[in-house]
Amino acid sequence: MKKATNPRSVKSKKPAHAASKNGRSGPRRPAGTDPKRVRAILAKLDEAYPSATCALEHQNPFQLLIATILSAQCTDVRVNQVTRSLFQKYPRPEDFAYANPQDLEAEIRPTGFFRSKTKSIQATSKKIVEEFSGEVPRTMEQLLTFPGVARKTANVVLGTAFGIPSGIVVDTHVKRLAGRLDLTRNTEPGKIEQDLMQIIPREKWIMFAHQLIWHGRRVCQARKPRCMECNLEKICYSQDKII
Ligand code: SF4
Repeated sequence: MKKATNPRSVKSKKPAHAASKNGRSGPRRPAGTDPKRVRAILAKLDEAYPSATCALEHQNPFQLLIATILSAQCTDVRVNQVTRSLFQKYPRPEDFAYANPQDLEAEIRPTGFFRSKTKSIQATSKKIVEEFSGEVPRTMEQLLTFPGVARKTANVVLGTAFGIPSGIVVDTHVKRLAGRLDLTRNTEPGKIEQDLMQIIPREKWIMFAHQLIWHGRRVCQARKPRCMECNLEKICYSQDKII
């Protein structure tokens, strides 16, 4: 196995910050964001994962919100193991909101950070009960007012539970793959999301994130990407590529 040659490492005749016609200079988009290439990536992802979806088990938007809060620093498999019994014991937002915190901590302990997650879950549930009549709100602005809910969680809930393309979920897989596919040069999730939102058509935002997450789990894994099995291999020039 050998590492692939990366065109980014080859000296380009053009400077990284090319001057525009009016003489001003500014950062160029990564070469990988050429619209034709982006369309090819999207087609390949559709071909490989036509029915990709969220791996967190849930039966309603509230359960998805709780499962997403629990998934911080934890695998979806572990979260699903915990929520199967958790959602039976605590079926409604009020059941979480007014539960004994120690009981809840014991239930979610396997997901890690159980004390802070319990606080977030109970405060979020209370807010849903007391300010939103027991329903999960459907806007980014409202969701961001919940404790323990940042853009990633809000995007998961809005996209998967309501089909609202509010943004693009940037988790560890999306972050790694967007970099490897040269769709962004940023490393901060908020900036990566903005970069992706500019090049991915809005109607693909939800599915694109699901597909990248599936590809990251199944093929383009962090330590040993399975490039020989990857249907994006011909258009991928990542330094991490193993051929
Ligand atoms: S070719 Fe390798 S590095 Fe590139 S997307 Fe596929 S698995 Fe990932």
